[in-house]
Amino acid sequence: MVNFIAERRGVGDETVDWNHAVNPAPIVELFRDWRFDWLDVPGVIAAADEILEYPMVDRDPIPRWTFGRTTLLGDAAHAMYPNGSNGASQAILDARTLALHLATAADAPTALAAYEEARRPATTALVLSNRQQGPEKVMLLARERAPEGFADIEDVIPSDELAEIAAGYKRAAGFLPEILNAPLTHPAGPMTAESLDDVDAARLAAVISPLRRTLLSATRASAHLPDIPDAQIEIVRALPRGVTRTPGELAELLGLGRSTVSNLLTLMEERGLVQRRAVPGDRRRVDVTATAKALGLFERFDAASAALVAGGAQRLDAGERAVLTAALPVLERLRDALDEERRATASRTSTHSPRKEAE
Ligand SMILES: Cc1cc2nc3c(=O)[nH]c(=O)nc-3n(C[C@H](O)[C@H](O)[C@H](O)COP(=O)(O)OP(=O)(O)OC[C@H]3O[C@@H](n4cnc5c(N)ncnc54)[C@H](O)[C@@H]3O)c2cc1C
Repeated sequence: MVNFIAERRGVGDETVDWNHAVNPAPIVELFRDWRFDWLDVPGVIAAADEILEYPMVDRDPIPRWTFGRTTLLGDAAHAMYPNGSNGASQAILDARTLALHLATAADAPTALAAYEEARRPATTALVLSNRQQGPEKVMLLARERAPEGFADIEDVIPSDELAEIAAGYKRAAGFLPEILNAPLTHPAGPMTAESLDDVDAARLAAVISPLRRTLLSATRASAHLPDIPDAQIEIVRALPRGVTRTPGELAELLGLGRSTVSNLLTLMEERGLVQRRAVPGDRRRVDVTATAKALGLFERFDAASAALVAGGAQRLDAGERAVLTAALPVLERLRDALDEERRATASRTSTHSPRKEAE
């Protein structure tokens, strides 16, 4: 038996039927020139008993899967172009994650929420990236680099590059064997929440700080911005255009002592970054705003750092960029979780420390 797929990109009609037999003649015509001494492609197509037409169909990602004790999984949740061994594989990953959360969460609604949180961003990114080229992009690369053909694929796309393209896609699709197999072969035995959700916290922490430092210094250099200390940056960030806060509110928001904030504001006022104004009728209240100069500097900083990140992302392959996109909401939640923890610690400390209260 010979099973083959011949793919043609174009605009399809509305029919979504994968059992639709078609006339081979127009397909033979499309591949008329594909006669090689080792394979007669139009001959193979013409001789087939039956040719089925498989339209490429997907659906836009949806914002919600879970409704009470009901959730979606597989194609119902994220029908995608079956590029890169996908569709069914993603349904299996859904099932694996859902089973884990059902087995380990306190109740079904919590399990379903955790499942959706784990799977929806990842599959959303994949539905969108599958509209571009999947790992099949190696074929286009070969055609671009060697339009006249080649004797050895290694001369056109080195094996390291081929392996990286394949691994990048597997990473984006969530089925890179090393990652997928790690929790299941964990010496601790059966799959547990700890093993599957294990994050290499030390490695992540070791990436975040240098990443931020590098971005800060590269941005300063590229936009010729002055060196403003981190704490002062945090204060200006807390005072976006149109927002006024008291020094006490800034201290609370940023988890800093009031005297620290007061010293910072004095220095920043000298540099023309903030203005402090007494509120008429309330002698004890002072309002702080960021100056136009500070806001202008930050707008330049934000534009330059976004451009640098966009430039850096261009060096990643499409699969890696999809992983990064899918990770953004998770990183934002991690930031919020750390911030909550910081606030809780600050409020415990201020309740127990007479020194802080005095500040
Ligand atoms: C042409 C083509 C090629 C593909 N190639 C690949 C590939 O190489 N690799 C890959 O991983 N994926 C591939 N896929 C995708 C893969 O087939 C799907 O992602 C996968 O089948 C989805 O599984 P599912 O269980 O979510 O949905 P389905 O497989 O669609 O299962 C849903 C089931 O529910 C039944 N059903 C519907 N309504 C009702 C109802 N009211 N009551 C009871 N039953 C109902 C349906 O009959 C169906 O059996 C391909 C898809 C197509 C169309």
